[in-house]
Amino acid sequence: MESKKWHAHYPDTIPKSITYAEKPLHAFLQESAERNEHKKALHFLGKEMTYGEVYGEAKKFASYIQSLGMRKGDKVAIMLPNCPQAVISYYGTLMAGGIVVQTNPLYTERELKYQLLDSEAAFIVCLDILLPKVSKVNNTDLKHTIVTGIKDYLPFPKNLIYPFIQRKEYNMVVKVSQTENTHVWKNIMEYGIGDYAEVEVDPKRDLALLQYTGGTTGNPKGVMLTHYNLVANVQMCEAWLYKTKYKSQTVLAVLPFFHVYGMTTVMNFAVVQASKMVLMPKFNATDILKTIAKQKPTLFPGAPTIYIGLLNHPDLDKYDLSSIEACLSGSAPLPIEVQEQFEKKTGGRLIEGYGLTESSPVTHANFVWEKRVNGSIGVPWPDTDAKIFRMDSDQEEAEIGEVGEVAVNGPQIMKGYWKNKEETEKVLRNGWLYTGDLGYMDEQGYFYIVDRKKDMIIASGYNIYPREVEEILYEHDAVQEAVVAGIPDEYRGETVKAYIVLKEGRDISEEELDAFCRKHLAVYKVPKIYEFRKELPKTAVGKILRRKLVDEDKEKISHA
Ligand code: AMP
Repeated sequence: MESKKWHAHYPDTIPKSITYAEKPLHAFLQESAERNEHKKALHFLGKEMTYGEVYGEAKKFASYIQSLGMRKGDKVAIMLPNCPQAVISYYGTLMAGGIVVQTNPLYTERELKYQLLDSEAAFIVCLDILLPKVSKVNNTDLKHTIVTGIKDYLPFPKNLIYPFIQRKEYNMVVKVSQTENTHVWKNIMEYGIGDYAEVEVDPKRDLALLQYTGGTTGNPKGVMLTHYNLVANVQMCEAWLYKTKYKSQTVLAVLPFFHVYGMTTVMNFAVVQASKMVLMPKFNATDILKTIAKQKPTLFPGAPTIYIGLLNHPDLDKYDLSSIEACLSGSAPLPIEVQEQFEKKTGGRLIEGYGLTESSPVTHANFVWEKRVNGSIGVPWPDTDAKIFRMDSDQEEAEIGEVGEVAVNGPQIMKGYWKNKEETEKVLRNGWLYTGDLGYMDEQGYFYIVDRKKDMIIASGYNIYPREVEEILYEHDAVQEAVVAGIPDEYRGETVKAYIVLKEGRDISEEELDAFCRKHLAVYKVPKIYEFRKELPKTAVGKILRRKLVDEDKEKISHA
């Protein structure tokens, strides 16, 4: 069931259809290492590694886990921030025939246990400082823990060019002894041999990844992504960024690799193109600005809050960001103000895209160097179809401009949720992935996200989309971050509340913001409550956790 209405015009430079390589994802690391053995693959706090070295370490990792009894299809949980080990263990796992289970290093014991149990992971790779947490999780299928330290790949003594590596967390040395079930990374790399047994992979059938998502609404679900899904999405990414293809480029890795967005658009993209990635283990605006000025990355995939954080840095003007040619923003709406300011500062292009874990993740983006529509998520990627279904009928296609549920279809769409047929059937229907996002398409074939279906506010019978209100709040020059949500209200059903972080040194009143909103919004959309906060809770990729704020408020209301 194809969408008949989608007809956006592609420039001649980008194919609408691509022949996807039917090979496992890790074959690309081998190819990049063979063709570009001495080319820099990564930069990490002063240390650089070539493609030959990364591939060599990945082979040692693969042979080591195989020597521990690893079988095809075994799951390996990787609980690491962006560091060389995150790249090596990811590709090493795939080479050994395993399935990667990305695990957020900030997970609590409970969250970790849930994920280990659900995924049936037999191995985990974690940072030494996380070992106490990992060790407390028992009664899972876990057999082996591989422990590594941030310092395992850092030059020692301290590198003075990067003073920030002297921070406590990077200098911590945790002593871990090798036992039957606990294995020390350094030993694996020092004594290991890379003669792993190659495992036959059927790219369209075999899973590469179980990527957990949806934690804010019930238990997280493991998204099953095959090698083919991931290869397809990364090849689409290459087609989209065609100008970078034959150029030596550097990708800034601020987005964490344990989230599918950073994993595809930074790590896998860099590996497929044999580009250098500059790894940032955590978000810190000063470190990022310094690193951009020094390492001169050309590509910088990110999320709106990351760009906002940099734009509001007090010393922004001291740093030269002119190396940046292209930024892809996803995971949340990109305020137009932010887009314009960031482009002015870097001289590069910042374009908005869209996707979700279930689609590896990218399905839409604006063109980088050609026509784009600000405020839109752009057009579907090559071989990707998209459709808006009417709100009241999940079979009927909406009219142009009519808001409905966005559905997508293409080679990057997941096989389903791991061990969860019921949830799979809810979202994979009639040959489409129903995204749970509300949006519309314009006459040119550009798509717009108005909100998550479940975030839409219904106040006194009116439908209010938080994004529209947030867009206005961001236009106020004192506002650094804003998020709008519906909270329970006795009379109106729900009422509109805005949570605001003001720019440093700014102080404005609720009345002033109210007057500003009234000027730009119909009165029923204007927030009735404002809460000023120092910061807002965010996910690892910088998405503001609207649900968390609402739940806190609901809790307060129920105790009132
Ligand atoms: P995740 O699975 O964590 O990648 O989250 C996917 C969700 O992020 C989507 O279903 C959307 O709700 C949201 N999202 C991604 N990109 C955008 C965008 N450009 N604008 C608005 N929401 C977005």
